[in-house]
Amino acid sequence: MKCEDWTELIDLYLDNELPESLRGRFERHLMRCAGCAFEVRTLEQTLDSLRDTVSPVKIPSATLERMEARLQSRLSPRLKTPTANGGQRTLRLV
Ligand SMILES: [Zn+2]
Repeated sequence: MKCEDWTELIDLYLDNELPESLRGRFERHLMRCAGCAFEVRTLEQTLDSLRDTVSPVKIPSATLERMEARLQSRLSPRLKTPTANGGQRTLRLV
């Protein structure tokens, strides 16, 4: 799998919704791939700060916008059935 495929799974990973087998593969990928590891860390921190409503972490606004877009596209498919197609497409636009 390519990095862009993995980055689409980061949300699921952080939500513990990734199947065990994929989770293991992803974690192995993170050990080798600084880019994806950084994405995971950044998103994790963003989610944490949103949850705790503490002062936001200092990340570039461009990154923040991407995160917000990603969170929104992540939250909206939630309201529909998880298997509904379109969720993946939405993520690809980010
Ligand atoms: Zn990667």
